[in-house]
Formats: sequence, C-alpha cells, structure tokens
Amino acid sequence: MGTAILTIIGILLVIGIIYLILKVAMGALVGVGGIAYVAVMLIRCFPILSIALVGAIVYSEDVIAPVLLYAVAVVLLTRRRAAKDIKEQAFKKLEEQGIVSEHLALGLEPSENTPIYIFAKALQPKGYGKKVLDKAAAKHRIGTKTCDGARYYFDEGEWEKLASRVANEVIATLNNQMQKYGIISENMSFNIDNKYSDLRGLIDVHIKDSFAHYVQRIMDERDVISETIPAARNSMAVVEAQIRRIQSLKEFMLVKNREREGVKLFIDKTVLTEKKNYLQGRAVIEEKDVDKLFGERDLAEKEVIMNICSALWKDMDYKLVEHDADHFWIHATAVDKHTCADCKEVYKSVEKYGKNQYCKGCLTKIHEQEDADEAEGKSVRRYISAPPPGVKIEM
Ligand SMILES: [Zn+2]
Repeated sequence: MGTAILTIIGILLVIGIIYLILKVAMGALVGVGGIAYVAVMLIRCFPILSIALVGAIVYSEDVIAPVLLYAVAVVLLTRRRAAKDIKEQAFKKLEEQGIVSEHLALGLEPSENTPIYIFAKALQPKGYGKKVLDKAAAKHRIGTKTCDGARYYFDEGEWEKLASRVANEVIATLNNQMQKYGIISENMSFNIDNKYSDLRGLIDVHIKDSFAHYVQRIMDERDVISETIPAARNSMAVVEAQIRRIQSLKEFMLVKNREREGVKLFIDKTVLTEKKNYLQGRAVIEEKDVDKLFGERDLAEKEVIMNICSALWKDMDYKLVEHDADHFWIHATAVDKHTCADCKEVYKSVEKYGKNQYCKGCLTKIHEQEDADEAEGKSVRRYISAPPPGVKIEM
C-alpha cells in the first residue's frame, strides 16, 4: 500500500521535473542540446548529488528509484536555494534603502545570475520576500507601518529619518517661495533626492503632510488668502507633467482626483499688496511682468492671482486675454481702446486706419481687399492722412 502511494508520488514528481526540464530547455536550446544543457546545469549546480545519483544507479542496478530520489532532492534543494536567495535580497534591500515597500518585497525573485534561474523561479516559494520581512517584524527586529494603503518595512529610525528629510526639504522650498513671491501652490514640485521607486508613494505622502502643516502654520501667523483653481483650468502642461511622473495605477488615480478637485493656492495678502503696486495704473500687463512678480507658474494660477487682485482692489480690474501663446491682462477701462473694429477682439496694440482701429490681421485683410478692388478698376478710398498709416497708437 505504502509502496503504491510512493510510486504515484514518484511518477507525479517525475512528470513535474520533466515539465520543468523542458521549460528550461526551451529557454536555452532545443532538443538534444537542451537536454544536454539541463544535464550539465544540474551537474554544475548539484555536483555531489549528481555523483551520488550515478553511484546509486551503479550500486543498486536500478534506474527509476535513484532518479526519483534525485528529482525530489533537486526540487527541495532548488526551492531552499531560491528562498535563501530571496531572503538575502530582502535584507540587503532593507539595509540599502532603510525602508522597503511590501510591493517590492512581494516582487523579489531569485537573482538572475544563477544558472538554475528559470528552475528556481518556477520552484520559488511565492511572496517569500514579504514572508521573511513579516517574520522579522513579528519578532520586532524591524518595524512595519501602513501608509496610504501601502505597507512598508523599515530599520530602526529610518522611518523618522525619511519623514524629517522630506519635511525639511519641503519647508525650505515653501519658505523660499513665500519670501520671494508670497504664493505657494499644491501644484509645486519638490526636489526630494530619491533613487528608490518603491518609496515614491511614501515620499508623496510625507510631502502632502509637510505641506498641510506648513499651510496650517502660515494661516495662523499671517493674513493668507486661499483659492482653488478649478480643475478644468489646469493646463495641459500641468496634467502632462503629472502624468509623466506616474508609475502605478494608484498614482494615476491620485492625479485623476486632483484633476477633479482642482489645485489650491495660498497667497500672503501683505506680499500681494506690495506686488500689485508695481502693476497698478497700467492699461496692459504682460505675462512676463506677472512672471517676474509672482514666479513662473501655470497660466491658470496666474489668472487666479490676477482675479484675486481684481476682487481686492477697485483699480485693479484686469481681464486675461489669450491669443494662442500670447497672454496678457487688460484693464477694464482700456478694453475699448484695444478692441479691433472688425473682429471685435482685444489686442495689446491696434492700428488706427481711417475712423477705426484694427488688429494687424484685419488691417492686412483690408489692404488686400483694397488692392483687389483697385486691380478691378473700382475706386478705392485709402486713408493716408493723420494719423499716418503704420503708426501704432500707444495707450
Ligand atoms: Zn481684428
């Protein structure tokens, strides 16, 4: 009875081994060459065991039993080897990074430089990297924490070390922006030194926390205006920059949510009051002047800043005008003087021609029409008197 069960197990094992051998063989060579490759590989990886196999075959004058035992031993040894390899990698990663994500631990595989790689990969205990770290965490040899749905393992002190490194960097950048421009935005990027992609989600959480703490503080200490940029106004450039950073579905969802919710701006009213004095009284404010005062930022953010100025001060009633890549702001009282009589659009400068004023495009069309009419012999009334054509009217 016992012998029958053993025989069945043996047959199943042999089938399994043959399957694996074929898998390895296909990865290397085909046919006889492949089997030779596997044989050489097995002898190289398990020299003592292979010699014992030959010895057992010769001694027992039987082939099947020794081969079965050999197969079982090879499977067990390979599995143990793979486990040891993964365990070493997990702790090496932890030592190198200080913090390791569960995601990374789960994905650890036997290292590729061993000749039994495919064999080991097929036989490895699944998720062993995580198992090993979980065991160490249960014995309190390493720490473990869940953050924003993701689990991490860390060596003592490393969690706090990363958090405070990120906080310092974020606060330094925010202080700098606040001093220079009086504005910080949720869209800001921070230059956090990090070569480990599995820690990016964690770093983003720390950035968000530090940002929130900072905002809380300045809200208490200063006169701060907070304004949300509607999601629809987030420019393509902003969205593209965010998408470029995306590495996982989770990150994608975060960006998606942010797109829906919009981005918040925080503005120091005292600084804003100083800055608007530079702009006050102008008919046209060019984008580069806004950049100079408030820092190079997304157009949607600049529009919000100027809208806040309009809302706060009566004489700062400006409207954004966009002509493709050309953006500027026009004062409410200057709109008429800058509107083309033909296309009714507002331009930085228009040209007086006859009784009316036109933009460059419309004026060119008028002249072309005049030329065409003249060629047909129609009488054309061209304006040449004051102001002379081509003289721009500065306002
Ligand atoms: Zn026009």
